[in-house]
Amino acid sequence: EANRRGPGSVALFEPRLFTAARARVDLERDLRRAVEADRITVHYQPVHDLTDGAVVGYEALARWSDPDRGHVSPAEFIPAAERAGLIDDLGMTVLRQALADLRRYGVPRDRWLSINVSPLQLDDDFARRLLVTVDRAGIPADRLRVEITESAMLRSTSGYTQLDEIRRRGVRVLVDDFGTGYSSLASLRRLPVDGIKIARELLHDGAPAPADTTVVRAVRLLAAGAGITEIIAEGVENAAEARTLAALGVPYGQGFHLGRPAPAARALRPPGPTPVGRVPVA
Ligand code: C2E
Ligand code: MG
Ligand code: MG
Ligand code: MG
Repeated sequence: EANRRGPGSVALFEPRLFTAARARVDLERDLRRAVEADRITVHYQPVHDLTDGAVVGYEALARWSDPDRGHVSPAEFIPAAERAGLIDDLGMTVLRQALADLRRYGVPRDRWLSINVSPLQLDDDFARRLLVTVDRAGIPADRLRVEITESAMLRSTSGYTQLDEIRRRGVRVLVDDFGTGYSSLASLRRLPVDGIKIARELLHDGAPAPADTTVVRAVRLLAAGAGITEIIAEGVENAAEARTLAALGVPYGQGFHLGRPAPAARALRPPGPTPVGRVPVA
């Protein structure tokens, strides 16, 4: 086909690049079909109060299992959705499913729902779309959290208007992966946000080394200075880390140690009847 365009254009179709481009096109085509056929599903990961272990909310995480590809990682299909112009459809599908699941499983009113939002969704109509969806589901807007990465937020100040609009309705905005961007600490005051999620990368392996403890303290002080009290540590992978974070005054945590992402039937289902012989004393 390249040959038909005449000499000179052939060089553009260097085989290895062509193969990679082809793979992208195929991935985006399959993803489009999955989104259109409603085959994107949602897993839920609990957010815990680190002082008493109580579940305070859930983060909705998109999942895609393709008949041929098997399970595809969000790290692969979220950027593909962004490239292919599918991210808003995908994001709104996740939101609708998650709102329906909250009702279906009778999740208590005081537990929030967090969804991830791509900066590409923050057009002039974003706030309206989001609020209409939440209202239609009959879920109070103040149960919703919107997670958006700091780098994304800094790139599009035009999105600030949209975020302020949903905040006026009680939706809380959280900075996702806080600490992975370079200008994070200084910019916190300027962002239209209510909370931050401290990136796993800042905490990492086991009991935080002295440097990590210092970082956590610094983040907490900066957040407090910006009037932010909702702080969630991401990627809490063991009990020691959970204890250290709680001792440092980080109120909430999320991670494999506390609860892995799981389908609604497992993650949101109310605790079943107490097994015989283990009836708690009132
Ligand atoms: P994120 O929003 O930062 O979500 C947290 C990710 O960390 C999830 O990966 C979760 O499974 C994983 N995780 C949770 N606890 C632990 C832990 O203790 N250790 C480790 N190593 N990992 C942990 P997941 O589900 O693969 O999602 C990856 C990213 O894809 C998300 O990062 C988010 O940025 C994006 N994403 C997922 N669903 C959506 C969506 O519906 N819309 C958009 N725009 N992005 C999404
Ligand atoms: Mg997130
Ligand atoms: Mg995150
Ligand atoms: Mg992330």
